[in-house]
Amino acid sequence: MAPPRRLVTLQAELRSCTACPEGVGPVVHGPPIKSPVFLLGQAPGVHEGDKGRPFAWTAGKTLFQWLERATGADEETIRGRVYFSAVARCFPGKAKGGGGDRRPSSDEIERCRRFIEGEIGILRPKLVLHIGTRASEEVLGHDGKLVDVIGTVQRASYHGVKVDVIALPHPSGASTWHRTEPGKTLLARALELVASHEAMREALG
Ligand code: SF4
Repeated sequence: MAPPRRLVTLQAELRSCTACPEGVGPVVHGPPIKSPVFLLGQAPGVHEGDKGRPFAWTAGKTLFQWLERATGADEETIRGRVYFSAVARCFPGKAKGGGGDRRPSSDEIERCRRFIEGEIGILRPKLVLHIGTRASEEVLGHDGKLVDVIGTVQRASYHGVKVDVIALPHPSGASTWHRTEPGKTLLARALELVASHEAMREALG
């Protein structure tokens, strides 16, 4: 299926964006595919710019292992059937004082939001699959604990489109949340919800 022309145009605009002085280019995004499933990550890491696609390094390896275990679809199939977005599309740089990558700031998320809004308006997805706490704040306005949202399906209006929302923890190697209880059990429950959701089944054919 040919990609939606408006999405191709929006991604061209996205690639030329230099609005964030602290963001490290290049802008990273997935292919302009029409999908009922909208995956919302946090921000690319240091390697994704070189690789030219989101979730291209260790966190991505874990994420695709989770999704393959749940759905049976391998990485390339998922990349070709699920739309990949993020609350920030440029690498934010390393956090001061160590401890991994800097979380994108509120200003950066605010500047980048118009691209998400455009994508949601064009795609009108049925399911938003969001990764980590920053994306949870963005979609659900939830700034509490992951245990309160992971393992549930929530209904939300996201940029004016009614969607089901399923949260996953961030698959970063720096996080132990998904490797210890109750995170392990909640992650397994969330992945069952992803695999059985009608939008994911539709996307994967
Ligand atoms: S993070 Fe988003 S708004 Fe900021 S420069 Fe990159 S693409 Fe533009």
